[in-house]
Amino acid sequence: MEYRIFGCKTNKYFTDKWLSDPDFASKPGIFVASCVVTENAKRKWKRFVKKAAGELADGGKIYLSGCGSLSDGKVSGQFYEEYPELRAFRERIELLPEDSDDVPEYARRGDRRKLTPAERIRTLSSSLAKSNLFTRKYSVIQTGCDNLCTFCLTVAARGAHKWRPAEEIVAEIAEFAANGGAETVLTGTNVGAWGAGDSNRFDEGRLPDLLEAIWSGSGIRRVRVSSLGPEFLTDAMLQTFVRKRSHAYVHLSVQSGSDSVLRKMRRKYGREFLRGRLSAIRGLRREDGVEINIGADLIVGFPGETDADFEDTLSIVREFGIAQVHAFPFSAHEGMHAVPASKLPNQISDAVKSERMDRLSREAEKVRAEFLMRHDGRRLELLPEGNPTEKAFSGWSENHIALSEKNFVPDSGFALKKGVPVSGVYRYVPGAEKIG
Ligand code: SF4
Repeated sequence: MEYRIFGCKTNKYFTDKWLSDPDFASKPGIFVASCVVTENAKRKWKRFVKKAAGELADGGKIYLSGCGSLSDGKVSGQFYEEYPELRAFRERIELLPEDSDDVPEYARRGDRRKLTPAERIRTLSSSLAKSNLFTRKYSVIQTGCDNLCTFCLTVAARGAHKWRPAEEIVAEIAEFAANGGAETVLTGTNVGAWGAGDSNRFDEGRLPDLLEAIWSGSGIRRVRVSSLGPEFLTDAMLQTFVRKRSHAYVHLSVQSGSDSVLRKMRRKYGREFLRGRLSAIRGLRREDGVEINIGADLIVGFPGETDADFEDTLSIVREFGIAQVHAFPFSAHEGMHAVPASKLPNQISDAVKSERMDRLSREAEKVRAEFLMRHDGRRLELLPEGNPTEKAFSGWSENHIALSEKNFVPDSGFALKKGVPVSGVYRYVPGAEKIG
């Protein structure tokens, strides 16, 4: 079955899982993982579904999953009220739950039966061994969230916070490593809340313990944490980033650098706490001497955001050298999806939003160029993706620099192979990197 993934790493994980089942994957059609993070994100998969549904071969279907098809963690019962423009394709769209393990709903149609644990592991390992969709293993460790950030639609789709037992996660990663896998990405909706009874109680998060369990229970070479709320950056969590087997990259869902905006977003931290944690990251020294890269999700144009508030966000990027900025214009979302912040006064115009998006990406460009220039001539480790050859290859370094034949010289005598790390020297070439 073909597939098309919109949105986050959680969608990559569940797509991999759905398509790791040969029965399901042999069906005619296209698997689509949808995303609702912004209006623009929604427009993209809706457009794709409309076009693909019109071109399906006989008997083919669009198997739609991801946040677009979900409500409170289950298949939405109001999907065609939420997306009336897709009603015309109703006969050709099959809405799926997030996780193929929830198939019993699906089984009601007698298509499939729930796999026994032994069968699931057998299916999982055979697919992992055979054709993992990705170079690295995305491991969903947690989904859903109990917080109520006023801009967030994901929480309505994915439902309440829940997390997988450490043994299951470690077993999955150990299997991937035993089959030659080098890197895993721990992902979810609010990853830092792993181990907490409620995602609001951030002092209960036990992600550092899970990392220790993965390092001691598997041969995985590198573990990356996809994204972290700054409130979960405890001293114990900070110390995990100095380890050689952790990705030297801290990606934070910061959202804003301004106290008044963070308050209206109902985030769990303020500017001074944020600055304190960022400078703590800058003070870390890794076992392998690699410089830690910092990334951040940032929203511009949140209701009531003044020029001074926006300057507070820019100054955070500048002061702490945040080299990977994922910037989003605030989306109020419409109709049934309107987020709480859509009702706030002082909504920002699209013109101001795009002007601020430009300024932020220019600032991020400058910071990233400085970070990359510091690495010129340094030794890094590439994790090749796809089908690398000596003449053409690409992948990421251990500190999340995009490497390719344009800016990386692998040590000689090493054949490049997908998923097999290779050391070499980085050469700073302006414009050679893509942001990731
Ligand atoms: S922490 Fe906030 S932004 Fe993140 S998933 Fe939960 S409600 Fe949404």
